[in-house]
Amino acid sequence: MSLKNKTTLFLVATPIGNLNEMTTRAVDVLKNVQVIACEDTRNTLKLLTHFDIHTRMISYHNFNEEESSEGIIKLLDEGQDVALVSDAGYPLISDPGYLLVNRVIEEGYDIVTVSGPNAALNALVASGLKTNHYLFYGFLNSKQSQAKKELEELRNFPYTLIFYEAPHRIEKTLKLCLEVLGDRRACLARELTKLHEEYHRGSLSELCELSELKGEMVLLIEGYEKETEEIDQEELFKEINGLIKEGYKTKEAVGLIAKKHDLSKNVLYNDYLKCSSKK
Ligand code: SAM
Repeated sequence: MSLKNKTTLFLVATPIGNLNEMTTRAVDVLKNVQVIACEDTRNTLKLLTHFDIHTRMISYHNFNEEESSEGIIKLLDEGQDVALVSDAGYPLISDPGYLLVNRVIEEGYDIVTVSGPNAALNALVASGLKTNHYLFYGFLNSKQSQAKKELEELRNFPYTLIFYEAPHRIEKTLKLCLEVLGDRRACLARELTKLHEEYHRGSLSELCELSELKGEMVLLIEGYEKETEEIDQEELFKEINGLIKEGYKTKEAVGLIAKKHDLSKNVLYNDYLKCSSKK
């Protein structure tokens, strides 16, 4: 019998290191569904054994996503609830599941998410970089030339950038980021939720000095900050003053000019106030 009124695919987040971060809801769902679809049955077996879960497992991974999705749709057709887990964190986040979710939506079955840990968000909130807007990019292409193109596309993106990276590639990736994005503030978050969790915060050139970086890691880099100096500041202030004369409030005028020149409203506002107070 289904856990809900309708047969359901549960997307269950699992710990990214520390098993104490498994939620009681995740344990309940994994105990009560008929089947758990996982990336690597040996890996998930360790988790299930730890929490005394005896549900049947089937494998669902990148290499057979299409075929396994159809198998899971068949199980849902038979009225069996299925939980999808990955090796760590959220399924579908740099992990398989996207194809399955779309097939399940097409077939009209319910999808329920069971919240839990995610390496990108853990790293972001402790990085010290802006959290109001961010771009989760996941893994850059493993070929340097492709990764360079990807970074070039991200160069003018004004929000914090979040990358996943493997330890054997991190040194090259840091150098490439420095070359393409410039020497921005960054943070390398390692081994999150584990015994040797650590954060290296500094400029990209400082992070390039680090060596023998091991374990799992997330790289965060501050977004592109357009300097008002790039455009003639006097001209910008003249435009703002023009709007104020027309009857706009200072904040509105700054907002309009910032939008026109694709600048940060707050930076321009502060610069404008500083300049006005000097006069
Ligand atoms: N689905 C996962 C999630 O929701 O975070 C991500 C899986 S992805 C295949 C694996 C990558 O996530 C690692 O290479 C690393 O970049 C990052 N990651 C996973 N666990 C981590 C941890 N404990 N500390 C730092 N990074 C981690």
